[in-house]
Amino acid sequence: MSAIKHNWTKEEILDIYNKPLMELLYEAATAHRLHHDPNTVQVSTLLSIKTGGCPEDCGYCPQAARYHTDIDGNDLMSVQQVKAQALRAKSSGSSRVCMGAAWRNVKDGEEFDQVLEMVRTINKLDMEVCCTLGMLTENQAKRLAEAGLYAYNHNLDSSEEYYKEVISTRGFSDRLETIDNVRKTNVTVCSGGIIGMGEKVEDRAEMLVALSTLNPQPESVPINALVAVEGTPLEDQEPISIWDMVRMVATTRIVMPETQVRLSAGRTQMTKEGQAMCFFAGANSIFAGDKLLTTPNPDVNEDMEMFKLLGLNPQKPFIKKMQPKTVEAQDSQYEALGEKPKWSRPEHTIERNEAAKEKAKIAK
Ligand code: SF4
Repeated sequence: MSAIKHNWTKEEILDIYNKPLMELLYEAATAHRLHHDPNTVQVSTLLSIKTGGCPEDCGYCPQAARYHTDIDGNDLMSVQQVKAQALRAKSSGSSRVCMGAAWRNVKDGEEFDQVLEMVRTINKLDMEVCCTLGMLTENQAKRLAEAGLYAYNHNLDSSEEYYKEVISTRGFSDRLETIDNVRKTNVTVCSGGIIGMGEKVEDRAEMLVALSTLNPQPESVPINALVAVEGTPLEDQEPISIWDMVRMVATTRIVMPETQVRLSAGRTQMTKEGQAMCFFAGANSIFAGDKLLTTPNPDVNEDMEMFKLLGLNPQKPFIKKMQPKTVEAQDSQYEALGEKPKWSRPEHTIERNEAAKEKAKIAK
């Protein structure tokens, strides 16, 4: 197996991204076959365990409390509700459950204890458990690992430079610090981004530099296409073309050959042919379920029809790494430290975020 390259430069990545398409596809499909079964695609289910009311200002997100969107917010789900949904997901072919909470960062306390219990419960269903809960300290990462967490998702979203055009309530370095905290445990890292937010191709390449130069590279990289939601600062962004998506997937596959590349938000805008091209280019995971957190997603039956049509099989769990053991709460060796880390608040001003906030104030 070829060695993994960890010193990709923006220029090298742009050269790959801009290759003639047939050459790019051939190279990506070749890298894919060297490291993965090309006929296997993981089906993951994303559960929004706590929706809306988020204090952050991510310009793409309908869950930010400051914007006026028509999502139905909900408090933290119960462990039983989560278990029921995980069982349903498993019976329809999912091998991974990703639980998302609209938080800036994790806070020690009852709610986090409840999330730890959810992790234990789903791990015992023999499914890969992933969480995306915002910024995280090392101790919190260790507690999640001990509960049986398989992956932690924390997206870089875009290049460091473009990040400042989308989010003003935290910095790019906070993201890297959380990823670093996860890396101090056995939990795998899931980190990717969103294309179609008005960034340049150079920003996409810079994001891939930031991800591919991590050592080890993230085990999982979701590539999202922006779903422009009314009321958010990015509501007027035009959908990206399928060609951008295919090029981004193929380039990700080439620079991170062992990674699970995930087709995430924006699949409803893609045809089956477009998705097939993404699978050929190296995508090997999709998110199932009629909603992705709060935005629409193809329904499971439609996805299963597509799998049949393309001769794809859903991937079994724990192919790349063994199932973690679950330590029960009473046997835990980590206590809640009640830390209050100083995550940054750059709070520069992003005009379109401010405008969306003002519009929301008027609407309320
Ligand atoms: S993306 Fe996450 S952190 Fe940002 S506003 Fe939405 S829920 Fe909050």
